Parts: sequence; C-alpha cells; structure tokens
Amino acid sequence: MTVNKKPRKRKRKVSQDRRGKPAVEQGSSRDPTRRQLLKYGLYGGLGLAAAGLGSWWFWPRPRGQQHNMIVVVIDTLRRDALGCYGNRFAISPRIDEISAEGIRFDRAIASSGWTLPSIASLLTGTWPTIHGALGKKTIVTPIRPELPMAAEVFKSNGFSTLGLGNNAYTSAMLGFGRGFDVYDHRHAYNDRIRRADETIDTALKLIHQHRNESNFLFIHFYDPHLDYDPPPGYKAKFTAGRRRPSPPLGWKYFRSIGSDRQAMMTDDGIKPPSAEDSDYIKGVYYGEVNFSDAQVGRLVDGLKKMSLYDQATLVITSDHGEEFWEHGGFEHAHTVYDELIRVPLIMKLPRAVQYAKSLVKAQIRQLDVMPTLFALAGIEKPASFVGRSLMPFIMGQTEEHLLAFSEGTLYGSDKLAWSTQHYTYIVDLNPQAKRKAELYNWRNDPHQKEDLITKQPGIARDLYQEMGQFYSKLLARAKTMSQPKVKNMHPQIIESLKSLGYIR
Ligand SMILES: [Zn+2]
Repeated sequence: MTVNKKPRKRKRKVSQDRRGKPAVEQGSSRDPTRRQLLKYGLYGGLGLAAAGLGSWWFWPRPRGQQHNMIVVVIDTLRRDALGCYGNRFAISPRIDEISAEGIRFDRAIASSGWTLPSIASLLTGTWPTIHGALGKKTIVTPIRPELPMAAEVFKSNGFSTLGLGNNAYTSAMLGFGRGFDVYDHRHAYNDRIRRADETIDTALKLIHQHRNESNFLFIHFYDPHLDYDPPPGYKAKFTAGRRRPSPPLGWKYFRSIGSDRQAMMTDDGIKPPSAEDSDYIKGVYYGEVNFSDAQVGRLVDGLKKMSLYDQATLVITSDHGEEFWEHGGFEHAHTVYDELIRVPLIMKLPRAVQYAKSLVKAQIRQLDVMPTLFALAGIEKPASFVGRSLMPFIMGQTEEHLLAFSEGTLYGSDKLAWSTQHYTYIVDLNPQAKRKAELYNWRNDPHQKEDLITKQPGIARDLYQEMGQFYSKLLARAKTMSQPKVKNMHPQIIESLKSLGYIR
C-alpha cells in the first residue's frame, strides 16, 4: 500500500500526549457520557477493545476550544462521479480539494443501497437489522428508540447538535431528529425539495449562531437524487452537444418515475438506453453533482470566513450511489451491487492532527465514521456503535480489510451483500429468485462483471456459511429488541399530516 507522507508544518504530535490513557479513563462521575450510557444500559463492554479507541491514539479536544464536527451526506452520490475517485469531467473541484488536503477512503461500504437503512446505520453505528429502519415502498419502520443516535452522544458531551435533512426517509418521525437541538427537516418529493444552496445558507447561519460552541452538524443534500433537475447553468455544462433522449427515456419518463418506480425496478431492470442517451442522462446527473460540489465549496468558504475551518472535522460521503444499467437496473434501492454500496468517503481532520495517509485502500464501513469522530473528540463510544475508529488506518497503523455487510432493498426482494478482503457474496432472499447468489472478486473485477458462483463453489460455500452465521446472530439479537411500529410514508399522507401540523 502506498504511504503518502504529507508535509505538515507547525503540527504538534498529539498522539504522544495521551498515549496509554484509554478514553474510558477520561470520564468521571460527572461525565455525562457515562450517565448517558448507563441510562441506555450500554455501559457494559466498554473496555478498550469494545470502545474501539485503543490505547494508541486519540486527539483530546482542548478544554474550552471550539470544535465543529460536520458530516455532509450527499444523497445518491456515486463514488466515481467525483474527480478524486477518477471522474474526468471536472465535476467536483471543491470536494477534490478537500480530498487533496485530507483522507480519501477507496473502499468504504455503506450498510444499504437506499437511504433509510444506510443513513440510520451511519447515525446509529450499527447494522440495519439491529437499528430496524427498513421497509418496502412506503411502509417502513423507524430507528429502534433504545439505540443512542450520534447526535445524542455528541449532545451529552457538550456539543450543540444541528441537523438538516432533505429526504422523506430522514424524517424525525423515523427517529432521525433524536438528539438534535435543531433538526430542520423539510422533506421533499422532487419538485418541492430544498436545494443544496438553501441547505448551506441555513447551515452557515446555524454555524454562525453557534460559532463559539462545539457543534455536531449533519447536513444532507438531496440534489443528485431523481428527478435530475440541476439549475440551468449546471445542466448545460455536462449535456452540451448531446441530444436529449426521446421517449420513453425523455424527461417525461423521468418525471413519471416517482409514481411508476415500482414497475421500473423489477429484478430484470429495464431495457438499457443507447450509449448516447445514457451519456445524456449521466450528464444531467453530473450537473446535480457539480452543483452539490459547489455548495460544499460554499460551506468550506463560509467556515474559513468564520475562522472555523482549520479546527473543523469535515466528512463528505453519500448514503448510496446510483445505478446506470451496469447490472441491468437504473436508480437505486433494489440491489446491493458496488455501484450502490461502495460510497465516497472523504475526511478532513483538524489541522492539529498529524496523520500518515491521504489514501486508505483497505475496505472499511460507513458505520466506522461515527466511532472515528468520537475518537477525534475524545468521546467514549457507546457499545451499540459496532464500527471501529478509522484513526489506525489514517495513522498508517493497519491496512486490514474489515468485513462489510449491506442489506435491505426498498423495491423487490431483499438482498444481502457480504464483503471480505477479496470477495463480495450477494444473496437474494426471495426463494423464487432467478439468481439466488452471486460471487465477485472485487479486487480483480471492480465492476462486478464476472459472477464466480459456479466457478468457485468452495469460496461461495464458505462465504454463505460465514454470512449466514453473522446474519442469524443479527436476527436473533433483533428479536430481543423493541419492535418499532410500522409507518406508512406515502408522500400525500405526510403532506396532509404536515398541513394539519402533526409533523413539523
Ligand atoms: Zn438516498
């Protein structure tokens, strides 16, 4: 693995300061974290290994010093749409800048290929079966209330907590608002969406209001999600010279997807468009990505203006990617292929943190993000956050691949993906499925073109058993937990509840 030593001037090596002192020792009887954890009954198992902090490193937040932890989730952002991940169309100059000064994770696996379970995993730090936020079409279940949310953990450690959500599946009614001092969720179904520029306007206002505090910010953009409808200047940039597709792949067709999505998302997918039409569709999507990137740039500029950037931790990621017929389908939420679950993950750390790597090639999971932020803030990790701090990877102390598990679809049969250090094993839980299992070597075959299920039966059998044992344990554990009430997320129902004032 390439080790990129970054020249960093005037940095103090903070790793020495607290070496040997586990985070758990930092607490006292007055420590709100400990009280919070006792409240959740999750204090047990907070030994060093379970806490994931280890004795090797963590960055102690200086007393009284302000620290912003900002997580930007760009919905439906494909990893390879970004320049720093190899896109050649200059779509993401601002995110590329952050990547150049920070750390880019080459193989970050999301816990699901659609919004609700994926973002719930990011914010609860656990697997979808355990947090329970799964569903089909508009019938979904919220996050299990007994699981602490990242915002609650930050809040109990003295952070102000500010959230901006823009997807119906990140609604407070599904548990996403828990722990936030402000949770501004203006869910939208396409036409009524709050665009990323407005979201950043609000974020900067909130940051300014809380500029003398330590803040945890969760910022969600919906823009690259269907409908692809970037502001005019952004749309033209990537479709110039291309002919707009005629029906059925014309614009009306995409407008109809909101109501006809189900028909489109069959296991067989839809007939792929011509290369020319596909390029046009991707061009419009790229316009949304480019616009989102510009808004991330505005966030960076705003933080710099307030002299908060150097000290901030900034995470840029997505909840899932988007399929453009690589495996026959379009959009997302009906498969667990890498174009959905392998997401971009970029981190910019506070200037004081000296680190060894700018590129982490090892497979890690998106649910490792919050444990990393807790480690950076010197916060004890609740046991329910099952991920690991990524600091040992960033510090060049390990290159191991972490086992990744992704599950859940919004449309069609449920699918599971189990990713090891070489392979991804995919299972379709529908007994009538035409393809019950698939096996890919992600190292040799990054686009998952060659299914090895019949060629490598021994490996397939081993992975089937491994994943089966893991998944059975999750299911057994989930049975012992609370059973959240099923909710119907039909947009009209939500709209009417909103207009009646039942939902904010
Ligand atoms: Zn999403």
